[in-house]
Amino acid sequence: MLTRFAPSPTGELHLGHAYSALLAHDAARAAGGRFRIRIDDIDGGRSRESHVAAALADLAWLGLAWDGAPVRQSAHLDAYAAALADLAARGLVYPCFCTRADIAASLAAPHGPAGPLYPGTCRRLTAAERERRRAAEPHCWRLDMGRAAALAGPLRWEEEGQGVRLADPAAHGDIVLARKDAPASYHLASTIDDAAMGVTHVVRGADLIASTDVHRLLQALLALPTPRYRHHALVCGADGRRLAKRDGAATLAMLREKGVDGGALANDLRAGRLPAGYSLRMA
Ligand code: GLU
Repeated sequence: MLTRFAPSPTGELHLGHAYSALLAHDAARAAGGRFRIRIDDIDGGRSRESHVAAALADLAWLGLAWDGAPVRQSAHLDAYAAALADLAARGLVYPCFCTRADIAASLAAPHGPAGPLYPGTCRRLTAAERERRRAAEPHCWRLDMGRAAALAGPLRWEEEGQGVRLADPAAHGDIVLARKDAPASYHLASTIDDAAMGVTHVVRGADLIASTDVHRLLQALLALPTPRYRHHALVCGADGRRLAKRDGAATLAMLREKGVDGGALANDLRAGRLPAGYSLRMA
Protein backbone atom coordinates (compact mmCIF):
# COMPACT_ATOMS: atom_id res chain seq x y z
CA MET A 1 0.00 0.00 0.00
CA LEU A 2 1.18 3.51 -0.78
CA THR A 3 -0.76 6.57 0.35
CA ARG A 4 0.06 10.25 0.07
CA PHE A 5 -0.78 13.59 1.59
CA ALA A 6 -0.71 16.35 -1.01
CA PRO A 7 -0.96 19.88 0.40
CA SER A 8 -1.01 22.93 -1.89
CA PRO A 9 1.51 25.39 -0.41
CA THR A 10 -0.86 28.34 -0.86
CA GLY A 11 -1.64 28.71 2.83
CA GLU A 12 -1.13 27.19 6.25
CA LEU A 13 -2.38 23.75 7.22
CA HIS A 14 -5.41 23.50 9.52
CA LEU A 15 -7.10 20.73 11.50
CA GLY A 16 -8.71 19.36 8.35
CA HIS A 17 -5.30 18.83 6.77
CA ALA A 18 -4.05 17.18 9.96
CA TYR A 19 -6.99 14.77 9.95
CA SER A 20 -6.45 13.87 6.29
CA ALA A 21 -2.70 13.38 6.70
CA LEU A 22 -3.24 11.18 9.76
CA LEU A 23 -5.74 8.94 8.00
CA ALA A 24 -3.48 8.52 4.96
CA HIS A 25 -0.43 7.91 7.14
CA ASP A 26 -2.13 5.44 9.46
CA ALA A 27 -3.72 3.46 6.61
CA ALA A 28 -0.31 2.90 5.05
CA ARG A 29 1.44 2.08 8.32
CA ALA A 30 -1.30 -0.36 9.39
CA ALA A 31 -0.70 -2.28 6.16
CA GLY A 32 3.10 -2.11 6.41
CA GLY A 33 3.02 0.23 3.42
CA ARG A 34 4.53 3.58 2.53
CA PHE A 35 3.34 7.13 3.12
CA ARG A 36 4.60 9.96 0.95
CA ILE A 37 4.22 13.70 0.81
CA ARG A 38 3.51 15.53 -2.42
CA ILE A 39 3.72 19.29 -2.65
CA ASP A 40 1.05 20.45 -5.12
CA ASP A 41 2.90 23.57 -6.21
CA ILE A 42 1.87 23.99 -9.86
CA ASP A 43 0.24 27.31 -9.03
CA GLY A 44 3.48 29.28 -9.18
CA GLY A 45 1.77 32.58 -8.46
CA ARG A 46 0.23 31.46 -5.16
CA SER A 47 2.68 28.81 -3.89
CA ARG A 48 5.17 29.87 -1.22
CA GLU A 49 8.29 28.08 -0.01
CA SER A 50 7.50 29.26 3.50
CA HIS A 51 4.24 27.29 3.36
CA VAL A 52 6.13 24.15 2.26
CA ALA A 53 8.48 24.41 5.22
CA ALA A 54 5.63 25.13 7.63
CA ALA A 55 3.58 22.17 6.33
CA LEU A 56 6.48 19.75 6.86
CA ALA A 57 7.06 21.18 10.35
CA ASP A 58 3.35 20.76 11.15
CA LEU A 59 3.36 17.11 10.04
CA ALA A 60 6.50 16.36 12.06
CA TRP A 61 4.88 18.08 15.09
CA LEU A 62 1.91 15.71 14.72
CA GLY A 63 4.39 12.85 14.95
CA LEU A 64 4.07 11.78 11.31
CA ALA A 65 7.05 10.38 9.43
CA TRP A 66 7.02 10.02 5.65
CA ASP A 67 8.95 7.93 3.20
CA GLY A 68 11.45 9.49 0.81
CA ALA A 69 11.77 13.15 0.02
CA PRO A 70 8.56 15.11 -0.64
CA VAL A 71 7.65 15.03 -4.32
CA ARG A 72 7.03 18.35 -6.05
CA GLN A 73 4.56 18.86 -8.86
CA SER A 74 6.61 21.79 -10.16
CA ALA A 75 9.28 19.20 -11.10
CA HIS A 76 6.82 17.27 -13.30
CA LEU A 77 5.75 19.90 -15.80
CA ASP A 78 7.20 17.87 -18.70
CA ALA A 79 5.00 14.90 -17.81
CA TYR A 80 1.88 17.11 -17.76
CA ALA A 81 2.82 18.69 -21.10
CA ALA A 82 3.41 15.25 -22.64
CA ALA A 83 0.00 14.01 -21.49
CA LEU A 84 -1.68 17.14 -22.84
CA ALA A 85 0.10 16.72 -26.19
CA ASP A 86 -1.04 13.09 -26.32
CA LEU A 87 -4.67 14.13 -25.72
CA ALA A 88 -4.32 16.93 -28.29
CA ALA A 89 -2.96 14.53 -30.91
CA ARG A 90 -6.10 12.43 -30.38
CA GLY A 91 -8.41 15.44 -30.76
CA LEU A 92 -9.59 15.24 -27.15
CA VAL A 93 -8.60 18.74 -26.02
CA TYR A 94 -8.98 22.18 -27.54
CA PRO A 95 -7.64 25.66 -26.77
CA CYS A 96 -10.15 27.97 -25.08
CA PHE A 97 -9.82 31.74 -25.30
CA CYS A 98 -12.80 32.70 -23.15
CA THR A 99 -12.26 34.99 -20.21
CA ARG A 100 -14.07 34.50 -16.90
CA ALA A 101 -16.30 37.38 -17.94
CA ASP A 102 -17.17 35.66 -21.22
CA ILE A 103 -18.18 32.53 -19.36
CA ALA A 104 -20.10 34.44 -16.68
CA ALA A 105 -21.99 36.25 -19.43
CA SER A 106 -23.36 32.97 -20.76
CA LEU A 107 -24.79 31.77 -17.49
CA ALA A 108 -27.61 30.08 -19.26
CA ALA A 109 -25.23 27.15 -18.84
CA PRO A 110 -26.32 24.53 -16.29
CA HIS A 111 -24.29 23.87 -13.17
CA GLY A 112 -22.07 20.83 -12.72
CA PRO A 113 -20.62 19.41 -9.49
CA ALA A 114 -17.97 22.15 -9.34
CA GLY A 115 -19.79 25.22 -10.67
CA PRO A 116 -21.21 26.39 -13.98
CA LEU A 117 -20.52 24.16 -16.95
CA TYR A 118 -18.46 25.65 -19.75
CA PRO A 119 -20.87 26.44 -22.60
CA GLY A 120 -18.53 25.01 -25.25
CA THR A 121 -17.97 28.24 -27.18
CA CYS A 122 -14.37 27.49 -28.23
CA ARG A 123 -15.12 23.83 -28.99
CA ARG A 124 -17.07 25.11 -31.99
CA LEU A 125 -14.27 27.23 -33.51
CA THR A 126 -12.98 26.19 -36.92
CA ALA A 127 -9.48 24.68 -37.10
CA ALA A 128 -8.26 27.78 -38.93
CA GLU A 129 -9.64 30.16 -36.34
CA ARG A 130 -8.18 28.07 -33.54
CA GLU A 131 -4.70 28.24 -35.09
CA ARG A 132 -4.92 31.97 -35.76
CA ARG A 133 -6.06 32.82 -32.24
CA ARG A 134 -3.65 30.38 -30.55
CA ALA A 135 -0.69 32.37 -31.82
CA ALA A 136 -2.05 35.66 -30.54
CA GLU A 137 -4.26 35.09 -27.49
CA PRO A 138 -3.78 33.61 -24.04
CA HIS A 139 -5.65 30.34 -23.75
CA CYS A 140 -6.27 27.38 -21.54
CA TRP A 141 -6.84 23.80 -22.76
CA ARG A 142 -10.15 22.08 -22.21
CA LEU A 143 -11.14 18.47 -22.47
CA ASP A 144 -13.78 17.74 -25.11
CA MET A 145 -15.89 15.88 -22.57
CA GLY A 146 -18.42 14.50 -25.02
CA ARG A 147 -15.75 12.78 -27.09
CA ALA A 148 -13.63 11.75 -24.12
CA ALA A 149 -16.49 10.23 -22.12
CA ALA A 150 -17.80 8.39 -25.20
CA LEU A 151 -14.33 7.01 -25.92
CA ALA A 152 -13.82 5.82 -22.34
CA GLY A 153 -17.25 4.24 -21.86
CA PRO A 154 -18.63 3.43 -18.38
CA LEU A 155 -16.11 3.92 -15.56
CA ARG A 156 -16.07 2.74 -11.96
CA TRP A 157 -13.91 3.01 -8.90
CA GLU A 158 -13.72 1.25 -5.57
CA GLU A 159 -14.68 3.55 -2.69
CA GLU A 160 -13.64 2.14 0.65
CA GLY A 161 -16.60 1.33 2.85
CA GLN A 162 -19.06 1.84 -0.01
CA GLY A 163 -17.99 -0.55 -2.71
CA VAL A 164 -18.07 0.21 -6.42
CA ARG A 165 -19.07 3.70 -7.54
CA LEU A 166 -19.96 4.74 -11.03
CA ALA A 167 -17.99 7.77 -12.27
CA ASP A 168 -19.96 10.54 -13.97
CA PRO A 169 -17.33 12.69 -15.70
CA ALA A 170 -19.83 14.04 -18.25
CA ALA A 171 -21.54 15.99 -15.45
CA HIS A 172 -18.42 18.20 -15.28
CA GLY A 173 -18.55 19.42 -18.87
CA ASP A 174 -15.45 20.56 -20.75
CA ILE A 175 -13.08 20.92 -17.79
CA VAL A 176 -9.78 22.79 -17.95
CA LEU A 177 -6.69 20.57 -18.13
CA ALA A 178 -4.06 23.31 -18.51
CA ARG A 179 -4.71 26.81 -17.26
CA LYS A 180 -3.75 30.11 -18.82
CA ASP A 181 -1.55 30.81 -15.82
CA ALA A 182 -0.50 27.30 -14.82
CA PRO A 183 0.81 24.43 -16.97
CA ALA A 184 -1.68 21.86 -15.64
CA SER A 185 -4.92 21.83 -13.74
CA TYR A 186 -5.29 20.07 -10.40
CA HIS A 187 -7.14 17.24 -12.16
CA LEU A 188 -4.42 16.52 -14.71
CA ALA A 189 -1.45 16.94 -12.37
CA SER A 190 -2.98 14.95 -9.54
CA THR A 191 -4.03 12.04 -11.76
CA ILE A 192 -0.64 11.79 -13.43
CA ASP A 193 1.28 12.05 -10.17
CA ASP A 194 -0.83 9.57 -8.25
CA ALA A 195 0.02 7.06 -10.98
CA ALA A 196 3.70 8.08 -11.25
CA MET A 197 4.15 7.80 -7.47
CA GLY A 198 2.50 4.38 -7.42
CA VAL A 199 -0.28 5.54 -5.09
CA THR A 200 -2.50 2.53 -4.39
CA HIS A 201 -4.99 4.28 -2.05
CA VAL A 202 -6.03 7.91 -2.40
CA VAL A 203 -7.19 9.16 1.01
CA ARG A 204 -8.66 12.66 0.86
CA GLY A 205 -11.60 14.77 1.97
CA ALA A 206 -15.19 14.15 0.90
CA ASP A 207 -15.16 17.59 -0.77
CA LEU A 208 -13.06 16.00 -3.53
CA ILE A 209 -15.26 13.01 -4.29
CA ALA A 210 -16.71 14.66 -7.40
CA SER A 211 -13.17 15.21 -8.71
CA THR A 212 -12.77 11.46 -8.79
CA ASP A 213 -15.27 11.35 -11.69
CA VAL A 214 -12.76 13.32 -13.71
CA HIS A 215 -9.64 11.57 -12.40
CA ARG A 216 -11.14 8.21 -13.30
CA LEU A 217 -11.75 9.44 -16.86
CA LEU A 218 -8.21 10.78 -17.20
CA GLN A 219 -6.85 7.43 -15.99
CA ALA A 220 -8.80 5.70 -18.74
CA LEU A 221 -7.68 8.16 -21.43
CA LEU A 222 -4.03 8.07 -20.38
CA ALA A 223 -3.87 4.31 -19.67
CA LEU A 224 -3.05 4.86 -15.98
CA PRO A 225 -3.96 2.48 -13.16
CA THR A 226 -6.91 3.27 -10.88
CA PRO A 227 -6.14 3.40 -7.16
CA ARG A 228 -8.73 2.70 -4.48
CA TYR A 229 -10.26 5.76 -2.89
CA ARG A 230 -11.34 6.81 0.55
CA HIS A 231 -13.08 10.20 0.80
CA HIS A 232 -13.24 10.95 4.49
CA ALA A 233 -15.37 13.22 6.67
CA LEU A 234 -14.36 16.88 6.81
CA VAL A 235 -13.43 18.91 9.86
CA CYS A 236 -16.03 21.67 10.19
CA GLY A 237 -15.99 24.80 12.30
CA ALA A 238 -18.64 26.17 14.66
CA ASP A 239 -20.67 27.38 11.65
CA GLY A 240 -20.89 23.77 10.38
CA ARG A 241 -18.87 24.60 7.28
CA ARG A 242 -15.66 22.85 6.40
CA LEU A 243 -12.51 24.66 7.40
CA ALA A 244 -10.92 26.73 4.70
CA LYS A 245 -7.54 28.37 4.59
CA ARG A 246 -9.09 31.67 5.60
CA ASP A 247 -10.07 30.26 9.04
CA GLY A 248 -6.85 31.40 10.65
CA ALA A 249 -7.89 30.36 14.16
CA ALA A 250 -7.56 26.70 13.29
CA THR A 251 -4.10 26.63 11.73
CA LEU A 252 -1.73 24.00 13.05
CA ALA A 253 1.01 26.61 13.30
CA MET A 254 -1.07 28.58 15.80
CA LEU A 255 -1.80 25.50 17.89
CA ARG A 256 1.88 24.64 17.79
CA GLU A 257 2.81 28.14 18.96
CA LYS A 258 0.25 27.94 21.77
CA GLY A 259 2.15 24.94 23.12
CA VAL A 260 -0.39 22.27 22.15
CA ASP A 261 1.14 18.78 22.16
CA GLY A 262 1.05 17.63 18.51
CA GLY A 263 1.21 13.91 19.32
CA ALA A 264 -1.71 14.18 21.76
CA LEU A 265 -3.73 16.20 19.22
CA ALA A 266 -3.01 13.52 16.60
CA ASN A 267 -4.31 10.79 18.90
CA ASP A 268 -7.44 12.80 19.68
CA LEU A 269 -8.12 13.28 15.96
CA ARG A 270 -7.57 9.55 15.39
CA ALA A 271 -10.23 8.85 18.00
CA GLY A 272 -12.60 11.39 16.40
CA ARG A 273 -12.20 13.77 19.37
CA LEU A 274 -11.99 17.29 18.04
CA PRO A 275 -11.20 20.49 19.94
CA ALA A 276 -14.29 22.38 21.17
CA GLY A 277 -16.19 24.05 18.34
CA TYR A 278 -15.11 21.56 15.65
CA SER A 279 -16.90 18.55 14.28
CA LEU A 280 -16.60 15.93 11.54
CA ARG A 281 -19.15 15.87 8.71
CA MET A 282 -19.30 14.12 5.36
CA ALA A 283 -19.95 17.29 3.32
N1 GLU B 1 -3.49 19.70 -3.32
C1 GLU B 1 -4.84 19.22 -3.27
C2 GLU B 1 -5.58 19.90 -2.12
O1 GLU B 1 -4.94 20.40 -1.22
C3 GLU B 1 -4.79 17.72 -3.07
C4 GLU B 1 -6.07 17.06 -3.26
C5 GLU B 1 -5.92 15.55 -3.34
O2 GLU B 1 -5.61 14.95 -2.30
O3 GLU B 1 -6.08 15.00 -4.42
O4 GLU B 1 -6.78 20.00 -2.16
